[in-house]
Amino acid sequence: MVPDRTPNAALTPSPLTRSDGPEVTYLCFSARQSASGAEWGDMESGRSGTNEVASSTERGGFDRTPGGAIRMDGNRLRDEIVAELRYTIESAGSPPVCLATVLVGDDRPSQMYVRNKHKKASEAGLVSRGVELPATASQAQVEDAVAALVADPSVHGILCQLPLPDGLDPEPVLALIPPEKDVDGLTERSMGRLVRGQPGHVGCTPLGAMRLLERYGIATAGKRAVVVGRSTLVGLPMVLLLGRKGVDATVTLAHSRTTDLVDVCRSADIIVAAAGSARMINATHVKPGATVIDVGISRTEAGIVGDVDFDAVQSIAGAITPMPGGTGPMTIACLLENTLSAARMLGAFPD
Ligand code: NDP
Repeated sequence: MVPDRTPNAALTPSPLTRSDGPEVTYLCFSARQSASGAEWGDMESGRSGTNEVASSTERGGFDRTPGGAIRMDGNRLRDEIVAELRYTIESAGSPPVCLATVLVGDDRPSQMYVRNKHKKASEAGLVSRGVELPATASQAQVEDAVAALVADPSVHGILCQLPLPDGLDPEPVLALIPPEKDVDGLTERSMGRLVRGQPGHVGCTPLGAMRLLERYGIATAGKRAVVVGRSTLVGLPMVLLLGRKGVDATVTLAHSRTTDLVDVCRSADIIVAAAGSARMINATHVKPGATVIDVGISRTEAGIVGDVDFDAVQSIAGAITPMPGGTGPMTIACLLENTLSAARMLGAFPD
């Protein structure tokens, strides 16, 4: 059986200390974590660094890289979350929980992202609706499309795929979306709620990174974390989430004007790289045993690569996300999770 989860738990972290092992900070969803601990087995990092992860007497639950780091598998965790959402929805008698997307123009990657979101929504037992507008759509047409979804009580979550085509301003479009339906967590009201610790949706990518830390039992309390990148989409909310009460990391925010990035990163127990600069985090940046989360996506001649030089870092880190297969799938999983939370906030799904 798959246990239920706390709605909007990212904003209500609950630090717990396991009585059967070393101290581990659980960010949230502690019921699921302890319930499935045996399935995931040994969570020992296998590194001599300071960022201990949860351990148990069972061994062999986590995949490891050739160099011995725990591979923080976003595909696997996404699939777990999708299955859990489906279970939760079906257990409640399958009331419709609806995610609506707005896609403007014909940008191929955006089309692919949106298609994937609908596919995973369907697997999770959600209803999804796609609104598509041509690249020639006016600002008013885009705003009207979003306003119609805002007014529609059968729609619980609204995602406007960004970037919009040149000439369209995303800000007035996002401003139309009320916090309850803002499953991307991008509007100023959602960001304000995050800053003030009020109930709301957290951006899917930073939330996904937090879910990975939680699922792999990475200790955060009192640990040093560095976030590379200060965007409102990823870096800033990541800093807030890592630093909030109950998570309790000591967080440094690095950016393109940071002069001593190697030293800053080497002091960290947790590195979240969200710069969009191909393989900029290499072996010199990483303290033995540190946890390294790669958010960046860069299209290079060698294909799509992350911000982290995975091959070099995996033999030093204690835990690391692959790219692809790390934070990307988690972004989608958290979008679906936020949509169920949205339905709960709107009273369309039982608590
Ligand atoms: P932005 O371009 O908005 O922000 C990038 C940030 O990184 C800026 O703060 C910038 O600093 C900083 N930065 C850039 N280069 C360096 C460098 N060499 N050293 C230190 N800091 C640097 O990007 P986003 O935050 O929107 O996205 C970041 C990356 O994450 C992108 O590759 C994006 O594609 C990817 N992404 C991945 C997702 C996923 O699901 N995995 C989802 C969303 C985004 P400054 O402010 O000084 O310019």
